[in-house]
Amino acid sequence: MPAPHSFDALILGGGAAGLMCAIEAGRRGRRVAVLENADRLGKKILISGGGRCNFTNLHCAPENFLSANPHFAKSALARYTPAYFIALVEKHSIPYHEKTLGQLFCDRSATDILHMLEEECRRAGVSIFTGTKVQEVSRPGGFAVRTSQGEFHAPSLVVATGGLSIPKVGATSFGYDLARQFGVKILAPRPGLVPLLFAAEDRLRYCDLAGVAAEVTASCEGQSFRAKMLITHRGLSGPAILQISSYWNDRQPICVDLAPGREVTASFRDSKAPRSEGALRSDLRKVLPHRLADRWLELHPPAAWTNAALAAFENDIHAWTVVPAGTEGYEKAEVTAGGIDTDELSAKSMECRKVPGLYFIGEVVDVTGQLGGFNFQWAWASGAAAGRAL
Ligand SMILES: Cc1cc2nc3c(=O)[nH]c(=O)nc-3n(C[C@H](O)[C@H](O)[C@H](O)COP(=O)(O)OP(=O)(O)OC[C@H]3O[C@@H](n4cnc5c(N)ncnc54)[C@H](O)[C@@H]3O)c2cc1C
Repeated sequence: MPAPHSFDALILGGGAAGLMCAIEAGRRGRRVAVLENADRLGKKILISGGGRCNFTNLHCAPENFLSANPHFAKSALARYTPAYFIALVEKHSIPYHEKTLGQLFCDRSATDILHMLEEECRRAGVSIFTGTKVQEVSRPGGFAVRTSQGEFHAPSLVVATGGLSIPKVGATSFGYDLARQFGVKILAPRPGLVPLLFAAEDRLRYCDLAGVAAEVTASCEGQSFRAKMLITHRGLSGPAILQISSYWNDRQPICVDLAPGREVTASFRDSKAPRSEGALRSDLRKVLPHRLADRWLELHPPAAWTNAALAAFENDIHAWTVVPAGTEGYEKAEVTAGGIDTDELSAKSMECRKVPGLYFIGEVVDVTGQLGGFNFQWAWASGAAAGRAL
């Protein structure tokens, strides 16, 4: 039997958080190994941001994250700000741009970010083992990890295996399973940043409009997002819906303002012009895409042409209540919300309070970013926090 590989720290998962953690620890002289299940590192980085990787957000703040403990992420985010990552990107001369609202994307491709992280790992002397299936983790003092590539030993073990979203690029439940093995609490994982499904009735009413998009404000649970909404063959998507999906719980209604900041019936109220369906359609079409305007009028015609009925019509446009039947699930979810209960972890180092030497970082933790580069910023920040503590 070959001798086990011995390191100061083993990092399970070579995605965004794991690689950042490895770089920080390696730079500090730690002997680090990254054990990656897949045949290559960072597959999710490569598909992120439509292939251009929205690698951070200039306006990153704790309010951009959901967690049962909204204070937990503050320390790590404050100690690894977007400026650190941008400095790394600039050091590697990677061209990037701000797309909108502080979202930074690569000009060329997400491959630039992965190559940068791989190069930094090389410089920091990190050992990488891809195609390595973890078979068993035990703790006979330090940690022993039995894998398809032999046995690895280290006093510290970092779990950076991500969430459940997009199983076809290698997402596994490993992190949650390991947490259970060590008695670490988990808050039920659920798909986040995910399209929502219409209930049967709404599907019949709207799904033939698939492809129609409008700027809306979507609200739920005290959160509101103003952005594009897209009607799909099965429900609703687009940035406003993806954002609100992370806050949505089963059976709750979401409220959609189809014409935020605009008054559709203003001209009726103020003028003496005849009130007719044709005139209303024409005004509604100025605010909504024509097909959606026509469908809305067909399904929600004003009850009468009185001021009161027009006011009710106006209200309905600003408060379309949709009760989704569910989400498109992990196959389509950009992130997994929930995860390792942050009460179990040190906010400074991500180390487990009850299992010294065991760390959880990145998406597997109950910290979920909004759309716009925040999930990577959490991966970098939590990875750096653990990497500096190893
Ligand atoms: C389509 C898509 C687009 C996205 N775009 C953006 C974006 O532009 N900006 C943004 O901020 N966020 C984006 N995200 C979210 C972002 O990719 C994740 O939040 C981030 O990658 C999480 O980093 P992580 O290191 O925790 O997990 P991951 O990056 O998922 O890395 C986990 C790694 O662990 C490996 N692994 C899993 N199980 C095991 C195991 N048992 N043993 C060993 N290794 C294992 C996986 O193969 C993977 O390499 C996107 C997500 C998706 C799905």
